[in-house]
Amino acid sequence: MVFGSSGASAWATQTTVKRGESVSVYVNLSTTETVSGLGVSVGYDRAYFEYESSAWTVANKVSLGEGKDFDPVLGNGAVLISPSSKPNGEIFCITLRVKGDAPLNSSAVSFGVKVGSEGETVYTSVDITVSCNHSWGGWTTISEPTCTEIGQQERVCSICGTRQQSYIDAKGHDYSDWETTKEASCTESGEQVRTCSVCGGTQARTVAPLGHTLGDDANVTKEATCVEHGEATGTCTVCGQSVTISTPLAAHKYGDWYTIIQATCTEKGEREHECSVCGHVERQKSLPLGHDFSQGTVVTPATIYSTGLFEAKCTRCGVEGSIISPCSYNDEETGIYLETEEDVFPVGSVVKVKTLESVRPEEKEVKTGIQKYVAQITDYFKNLISRFSGNKQGQAEVNDYGIDKISSSYDLYEIKAVNNDGDMVQQNGKTVLTFKLPEGFGRNTAVYSIDEKGIKTELPVKVDMEKRTVTASSDLLYVFAVANMDSLPEKNDLSMPAILHYIIEGLLLLFLIIACCVSAGRRKKLKAVKRAEKTEKDAESRVGVESGIEDTHQQTEEAKPAIPDRNSDASVNSSLRDEINEALGDQNAVSKPQEEQVPEKPKKPTLDDIFGESKK
Ligand SMILES: [Zn+2]
Ligand SMILES: [Zn+2]
Ligand SMILES: [Zn+2]
Ligand SMILES: [Zn+2]
Ligand SMILES: [Zn+2]
Repeated sequence: MVFGSSGASAWATQTTVKRGESVSVYVNLSTTETVSGLGVSVGYDRAYFEYESSAWTVANKVSLGEGKDFDPVLGNGAVLISPSSKPNGEIFCITLRVKGDAPLNSSAVSFGVKVGSEGETVYTSVDITVSCNHSWGGWTTISEPTCTEIGQQERVCSICGTRQQSYIDAKGHDYSDWETTKEASCTESGEQVRTCSVCGGTQARTVAPLGHTLGDDANVTKEATCVEHGEATGTCTVCGQSVTISTPLAAHKYGDWYTIIQATCTEKGEREHECSVCGHVERQKSLPLGHDFSQGTVVTPATIYSTGLFEAKCTRCGVEGSIISPCSYNDEETGIYLETEEDVFPVGSVVKVKTLESVRPEEKEVKTGIQKYVAQITDYFKNLISRFSGNKQGQAEVNDYGIDKISSSYDLYEIKAVNNDGDMVQQNGKTVLTFKLPEGFGRNTAVYSIDEKGIKTELPVKVDMEKRTVTASSDLLYVFAVANMDSLPEKNDLSMPAILHYIIEGLLLLFLIIACCVSAGRRKKLKAVKRAEKTEKDAESRVGVESGIEDTHQQTEEAKPAIPDRNSDASVNSSLRDEINEALGDQNAVSKPQEEQVPEKPKKPTLDDIFGESKK
């Protein structure tokens, strides 16, 4: 009988294993024998390892049953191979756990493999080193770091006593602020020093010369260009020397931009310009133009409560696109455009726009010099006469919304969202309103929202001078005023000197007094005739019906002791006195409280209002 030759080798998944961890060890066989079975015995130190599992990994194995394949207590086992063959390669694997208290050094796991029932036994082994899990103590400093030197520290494993060392970074200096030890001058450099508060180490630095500073009398003797410094001569304001200094380089002198790459709808373009002095070229990228979807078809028109659909072809590149237009309403007549989010207005809402007022200041003739004064005096007389006579004609009519007090040029619109029944609907969000800028209106255009109580709220606006629009947003659609804030409400803005004004006032009063005297004199005669016909009592009642000014005058002239008339006479008297005081600009005159109590009556301008500026 001729025996073949066999050899075995073993290898582990890891040769250094920590306590508590597992390791698998494999056995490989190489043989020329044809066998029908294999036997294996494993030897390992029970102080180091404990059995976890094992498996025959040889091809075509036939299990002998549990406890027979491998007996962990005996440390051996066997397997049958069917059909009989040469079992080369990996045949067996055992997994061992390193014990928690295993000694911290190497131990062998050895195998004996019996090849066939009658065959030889081959031996192999592998060394496994048990390593420590290290339980480190705290760091202790071996050497302290200084400002510039590193330090060292150490820690010890409480299990195996292994020491581990590491460095501690140097602390760096703790410097003071820089102290100047020598001031820099126009031409000489200065010096500064700082000191470390820990080690006392110092650091020095040089401060560059400040350079001369020329005063306003400096002469530029050579203009700077983008490539060459210029020169200026004058007296230094610091050191007093007569000096010539170099001036900074000038900016490049670029020509027009040239398009290098034309931007398209989707691609960036490029342009450049060149300095005419040094030829420096500056290049800039331009943004893609974006598609122009201005030409297209409205598939679904937008309403104030639903979005619309617009299909278009780019006018430049022909790309087709569809655009969802927001919930909006465009009023053809006024050009007012409203835009909002979905769900702000209930389904079925309709917007109604009505122009309430369009007010512009009257166009006035441009007058100069004496013409202007004559016109002003005429206006002033008209105003004064109407004041004395109580005639309110000529005074600005106050609209319900009081916008005329803010501007003399404005458009007033009623913009409402209503339901089928024409009732205003609840607005659950903001509406962005865009108004066309009326002619003559500029950047200083305001938009006021006015609620049902007449309360005005100035809305933040965006004025687009290019498109000539003004945009504002509002939580409520009701009444809106677009006001030109450059067109202020008219005031009696007379610019004639105060003295001229006093003369006019005086003349007017004189005129009134004469007029009253003449009128009273005439009435006196009339009354004398009437008195002859009627009793005094009759005459008194008739006098009571006469107008205020005439009555007043009559009383002073006749000193009539008619008791029933006295109260009315007295009030008329004080009213006239106030008017005169006011007209004469008497600072001490008691102002009429009556005017303050009736706010809806436009306040009559006082002399201070009219001449406030020319007086100062
Ligand atoms: Zn350790
Ligand atoms: Zn230091
Ligand atoms: Zn100097
Ligand atoms: Zn240049
Ligand atoms: Zn395009």
